[in-house]
Amino acid sequence: MGLGYEDTPLLPGGKWTVHDGRRPQPPVVDPGTSSTQEAAGRPPSDATILFDGKDASKWVDRDGNPAKWKVENGCWEVVPKTGDIQTKEHFGDCQLHVELASPTVVKGEGQGRGNSGVFLMGRYEIQVLDCYQNQTYPDGTSCAMYGQYPPLVNACRKPGEWQTYDVMFVAPRFEGTRLLTPAFITVIHNGVVVQYHRQLQGPTQHKRLACYDPHDAKGPIKLQDHGDLVRYRNIWIRPLDYYVNA
Ligand code: MG
Repeated sequence: MGLGYEDTPLLPGGKWTVHDGRRPQPPVVDPGTSSTQEAAGRPPSDATILFDGKDASKWVDRDGNPAKWKVENGCWEVVPKTGDIQTKEHFGDCQLHVELASPTVVKGEGQGRGNSGVFLMGRYEIQVLDCYQNQTYPDGTSCAMYGQYPPLVNACRKPGEWQTYDVMFVAPRFEGTRLLTPAFITVIHNGVVVQYHRQLQGPTQHKRLACYDPHDAKGPIKLQDHGDLVRYRNIWIRPLDYYVNA
């Protein structure tokens, strides 16, 4: 006795029938636990851990040297002027989880308050900014796709409090010099959807229109040093290329 049905029509793709019991079972994953203000949660069991609060070895600076940001008390603080940092490993389609806290001591305004950034493929920036009672141009606010799309809402927590970015990213596809499909992104900020299946116009630009140039199928996750003391913890990623193509 099989798990499913054998007298059902073939699904598009020509491999499996409707309710086909021979179709591979989804792999079992321990979903982990959520984070609290007091402690980082436990990532899903199939996640690639990028930063666990202690080990910075998966990251390098722009020149390929060890990242110089300060690892302390289970988190990582930007050390201004040491530059952006990026993962050694490269990724395409992915689910990315990042936790961050704006500087506890509030200073500056607009783009000058708690500025940093999370870049997919080293190119597509989700803005990190302390926008708790701090306004700036909307496409540069917290969780904006910088220069392209403001977030749907402002879901910022207070400075110093831990916040979560959960990202679903579909990398662009190129064929030779031609763009086949653009990048798409969904961002959930502190549990609230703030970017919903946004079609990106190209790699992030400042004061210019974005446009696509062919690039590699994978790229690093990059965190921005914009001179402010933003802290990070509990960063993990689930590459989705494998599951999508399986
Ligand atoms: Mg930024």
